Amino acid sequence: MLFTDLFEQYHWDNIKDSIYQKTAADVRHALYKSGKRTLEDFKALVSPAAVPFLEEMAQISHQLTVQRFGKTIQMYAPLYLSNECQNICTYCGFSMDNKVKRITLNPKQIEQEVAVLKEMGYEHVLLVTGEANRTVGVEYFKKVIRLLRPHFSHISMEVQPMDQEEYESLIAEGLDTVLVYQETYHQEDYKKHHPKGRKSNFQYRLETPDRLGKAHIHKIGLGVLIGLEDWRTDCFLVAAHLQYLEKTYWQTKYSISFPRLRPFSGGLPPKVEMNDRELVQLICAYRIFNQEVELSLSTRESEVFRNHVIKLGITHMSAGSKTNPGGYTAEEESLEQFEISDERSPAEIAEMLKIQGYEPVWKDWEIGYSFVEPLTL
Ligand code: SF4
Repeated sequence: MLFTDLFEQYHWDNIKDSIYQKTAADVRHALYKSGKRTLEDFKALVSPAAVPFLEEMAQISHQLTVQRFGKTIQMYAPLYLSNECQNICTYCGFSMDNKVKRITLNPKQIEQEVAVLKEMGYEHVLLVTGEANRTVGVEYFKKVIRLLRPHFSHISMEVQPMDQEEYESLIAEGLDTVLVYQETYHQEDYKKHHPKGRKSNFQYRLETPDRLGKAHIHKIGLGVLIGLEDWRTDCFLVAAHLQYLEKTYWQTKYSISFPRLRPFSGGLPPKVEMNDRELVQLICAYRIFNQEVELSLSTRESEVFRNHVIKLGITHMSAGSKTNPGGYTAEEESLEQFEISDERSPAEIAEMLKIQGYEPVWKDWEIGYSFVEPLTL
C-alpha cells in the first residue's frame, strides 16, 4: 500500500466541511484528552472553532515542545545551487517562463559559498535547486554531496522528486534529509499551478515520500505552500500523510514546514490569505497532534513573527538566508526564488534565541551516530 491508495479515499469537500463544522466542544476534547490525538482532533484544532482557544493551544504546544526537544532551536542554511528549471509553476520566480538569467554553480563557486556558511557557523545545509534534470540531475548532486560532506554534519535537499534507486545512490554519498512539499493536495488546483514540466505529475510527487521511506532516508520533510488553497484542508492532508508515513516507515524522522506564499518578481497573489494568528494556530495544532515531528520556520516570515513563535513549537530555523544561486558571495544580482522577510544574520538570531532562554544548536546529527560500534572481545 502507498499513500496514494489512502489518498483516494479522501474527498476534499468532505474534509473541508467536516473541519468547518467542528465545535468548541470538539476543540476542548482535542486539547484536554489524554493520550495521542487523532486526525479528527487535528481537524478540530485547525478549525475556526479553535480560534478562541489560541492562548490555551499555545501553552499546551509550548509544554509539549519543551518536554520533547528542550529549549533548543536547530539552525540550518539554504544553499541555492541553481535557478534553472524545466517546470512552469505559477507562484515561483524560477518558473521556466520567467525570462531571467539562469545560473548553476560550479564546484569552485560552491566552495566559495561554503566558506561563507562555515564562517557563519553552519553545520546543517539545505541544498536547493530548480527542477532541471539535464543540468542538476543525480550525477550533479552526487558530486555536490561529495564536495560538501567534509564540511557539514547534516545535508538536506529540496530539489526535484526522484526514483527510489536515485535516492539510494545519494544516501550512499551522505544525503540525510529530503524535503518534498506537495504544494497543494487539491488535485484540480495542482494542475492549474503546474501546467508544464515533470512537476505536473501530481501522482509521482505524492508518492515521493513513499520512495524515500523505502530508500531508508534519515528524515523526510513535508508541507504545502499556504495560499494556494484552503489551508485548513491542505494541512489536514499533510497531517494524514505524516501519520501514514510514521506508521509505514517508522525508522525515518519527519519535519513539517508551512511556507506562506511570498512575493517574487511577476508573482501570484495568494488565493487564500492566512494571517499571523492562523499560522500560530496551525503551528500549535501540528505540535499538539504530533509531539515527535520537527517544525521548521524559514526567513520567509517576518522578524517580529519569528521572535514571537519561538516558544510555541518551532524546532528548526534558518537565518541570514539567500535564495539566489551564489547569493552568499558574488552573484548578488541573480533572481531570488522569493523575497526574504527576516534579514537578520545568524549571529543576531542566535542572540535573540539566547535572550528568550533558548539555545541555538548548529550540529544536531552525525551520520556516525546511527551505527553501533562492534564490541571487541
Ligand atoms: S517551484 Fe520548483 S519546480 Fe516550480 S518553478 Fe520553482 S523551482 Fe521550478
